[in-house]
Amino acid sequence: MQHKARKRFGQNFLIDSQIIERIVATIAPRAKDNLIEIGPGKGALTLPLLENLNAMKVIEIDRDLIALLESQNHKKLTVIEADALIFDFGQLEEKARIVGNLPYNISSPLLFHLLEHRSNVIDMTFMLQKEVVDRIVAPHGSKTYGRLSVMLQAFFDVELMFSVPKESFDPQPKIESAIIYFKPRTDAALSESTLLQKVVKAAFSQRRKTLRNCLKSILTQEQTDIDLSQRAEMLSVDEFINLTKDYAKQN
Ligand code: SAM
Repeated sequence: MQHKARKRFGQNFLIDSQIIERIVATIAPRAKDNLIEIGPGKGALTLPLLENLNAMKVIEIDRDLIALLESQNHKKLTVIEADALIFDFGQLEEKARIVGNLPYNISSPLLFHLLEHRSNVIDMTFMLQKEVVDRIVAPHGSKTYGRLSVMLQAFFDVELMFSVPKESFDPQPKIESAIIYFKPRTDAALSESTLLQKVVKAAFSQRRKTLRNCLKSILTQEQTDIDLSQRAEMLSVDEFINLTKDYAKQN
């Protein structure tokens, strides 16, 4: 069956067998893992992963690709037709390992959706645009440090695994990609993300302004020990967490 790549579903299919092998080795699937792949496409990662597993689930939005996968009749594979952006990962009976070469056009909202479902997650290994991975793992003080870095590092340990050149895909994307690993933090200092989200969004709303300015409507210098004459990018993830705790005390 021929399939024409659909831009609106962010379809760039992996065609580089060495890279595929390296991603599978990084995931290191064990037979009993509850592994879920987001966006299996034509199965570039799915089939080698399946070889190592007793069972596997995939979530795909494109009906033509679902038909293609189902026509191959893989006994151990469950294909779920769904939009991963609204899929309720909370409905899973056991915690899952989540993997995927994610559609780049929805990578940030998808990561925020998964953040809300982190209690159902053992770990996550994703391919993303290299530029997005750089932003996620950025340390404070760097130019790429921002909302994505703070929100994800507050709840996950994150690690850039390796870069993937654009030649590894068909069709070729314009930019480089990278593999990133996420493990939920057992020492996460906040139980939920809503207030942190509000503080971080306001803090980075105008990067050049001081925190005092950006957080005006949220909290004042008198309400926190954190020096608000700094700019948002200077604050570590832990300081953002403390700021959020100070903000929570006001409510
Ligand atoms: N895993 C395949 C590979 O590596 O060759 C395909 C990766 S391609 C970058 C992204 C895949 O995600 C496509 O199969 C696409 O149809 C699917 N997809 C796009 N948006 C989705 C969504 N909201 N929910 C689930 N799957 C989606």
